[in-house]
Amino acid sequence: MLQPIEPPAASRSSLSHPRDLGGPWHSEAACRSDEAGLFFAPSKEPTAARLSREEAAKRVCARCPVMLECREHALLQPEPYGVWGGMTAAERRVVLARRRRREAELQRPGTRIAAAG
Ligand code: SF4
Repeated sequence: MLQPIEPPAASRSSLSHPRDLGGPWHSEAACRSDEAGLFFAPSKEPTAARLSREEAAKRVCARCPVMLECREHALLQPEPYGVWGGMTAAERRVVLARRRRREAELQRPGTRIAAAG
């Protein structure tokens, strides 16, 4: 049987998941009633199993009424492990890198914000 990955001691709190937290939106989390192991990788998980598990977790997120709140929480912390808000940790890193690039571009002198539409 696969065992959960033991994260560095400094980030153990990151294994908390919405179902474990007590904030204003956490009580509506769809993952409160789902399999605990679905959202975090066990150690030495084969790639195919990881992809399958992550897709199953994302299906739970897709029907979650607080997905956007959860996603933004995970991005702002940032949460380094697990599926949060329908995104894997790797997908959140990509979004954060894009946000940092956009912020850096906006802070450059002479940068104008493009009109929407
Ligand atoms: S979006 Fe996913 S991880 Fe976040 S609270 Fe909902 S089901 Fe849980």
